[in-house]
Amino acid sequence: METLEGVVVVGGGPVGLLTALKLGRAGVKVIVLESEACVSPSPRAVAYMPPTIAAMQRFGVLEDIRKRAVYCPSINYRHGDGTLFSTLEWSAVAEDTEFPYMLLLGQNHVSNVIKQHLQTLPNVDIRWNHRVESIDQDANYVTIETRCPGGISRLRARWVAATDGARSTVREKIGLSFDGITWAERLVATNVFYDFTVHGYSRANFVHDPLDWAVVVQLDQSGLWRVCYGEDPSISMEEVRRRMPERFKRLLPGAPTPDRYRVDHLNPYRVHQRCAAEFRRGRVILAGDAAHATNPMGGLGLSGGVLDAEHLARALISVVNDSASVKVLDDYSVDRRKVFLEFTSPTATQNFNWMKESDPAQRARDTELLTHAGTDRAVMREVLLSFEKLNGSSRPAPPLKLAA
Ligand SMILES: Cc1cc2nc3c(=O)[nH]c(=O)nc-3n(C[C@H](O)[C@H](O)[C@H](O)COP(=O)(O)OP(=O)(O)OC[C@H]3O[C@@H](n4cnc5c(N)ncnc54)[C@H](O)[C@@H]3O)c2cc1C
Repeated sequence: METLEGVVVVGGGPVGLLTALKLGRAGVKVIVLESEACVSPSPRAVAYMPPTIAAMQRFGVLEDIRKRAVYCPSINYRHGDGTLFSTLEWSAVAEDTEFPYMLLLGQNHVSNVIKQHLQTLPNVDIRWNHRVESIDQDANYVTIETRCPGGISRLRARWVAATDGARSTVREKIGLSFDGITWAERLVATNVFYDFTVHGYSRANFVHDPLDWAVVVQLDQSGLWRVCYGEDPSISMEEVRRRMPERFKRLLPGAPTPDRYRVDHLNPYRVHQRCAAEFRRGRVILAGDAAHATNPMGGLGLSGGVLDAEHLARALISVVNDSASVKVLDDYSVDRRKVFLEFTSPTATQNFNWMKESDPAQRARDTELLTHAGTDRAVMREVLLSFEKLNGSSRPAPPLKLAA
């Protein structure tokens, strides 16, 4: 059986790839096992928060991400008819952070940038088409069984980083519960070519409406936008597609007919607020969606996952390279779980509830609160500074110095 005196990363999503990148740069031997044949093109994350951008810089990938990303200076709140009722401007935290803005870019492009950086590291081996099916561990090693094109392969490693997403096989196999709720709503994420700017839309918009709530965000510099809206979970995929022109007529400014836009991707999702009971069991440590899942309202899932990757890789490096006590892995687990339970999940839950609130009195109170945040710079600063909580308790490492 193949033995790795290093780390196996299960799942080559953005969190797994970043974990592998930091480990690889520190000289740790890494194998990434990914069930798919390539980076997934599914329409998922698009918006990244200031502490995440800072982490991207420390990972050394920010410049390449910036080449394609869109800079987003504000978050805008609109009623269902498109009228703007509040704007939070990131300039309110200009004195507090090096990155007073969000970056917008499809998650697949972010993953592809990380993948390119990984390809320069001879000690990192990415194995596509490798689906992990079982995991077993003893005091010294984790044994992983993988289905791959040649059949079943077995591999053992000192440590496993489980970054195999919300439906994590690893989490299930090591017996960790994933407690929380699944939202009743079904989300439909579409990538669509349509000119929102001629209708006065800004780059990131939350549309608040009991029926026609939506997130409308510019995806990149090519004219592609993300429109994410709610759909009846009981209808078929064909029905979702059939109803889309009628939904878009109501959701998109200018009430366009299908000849005025082009849908590039459409994917329905069920969304959750769930968190693993622990992020570490023995030699297996969870990160990203495998550890915690949130609804995407507010762009906090991957924004937090990127920071998980940094903290986990840092802890693993000190254990593998410097023989530090495994306590650093427990600290990672406790700290990142706290970030999710005390900041990410409540914030995303509040965002989603605000968007789809059906009680007119509550809706009026929510609108007033957000309007106040949009007019009082001190409140605006406080709201936007709260995203720094994604960092958790440990201080971010200084920016990575890359060789010229
Ligand atoms: C519509 C939508 C919009 C979103 N928008 C945002 C946003 O704007 N900002 C934000 O921060 N977050 C957003 N998110 C959340 C974000 O997409 C996730 O947090 C992110 O994908 C988590 O990355 P990950 O690497 O942990 O998991 P994933 O991206 O799920 O990657 C897991 C990987 O593991 C692989 N895998 C699974 N099982 C196995 C196995 N058994 N063996 C080997 N490989 C396996 C999968 O193929 C996949 O490549 C959004 C999500 C959705 C659905």
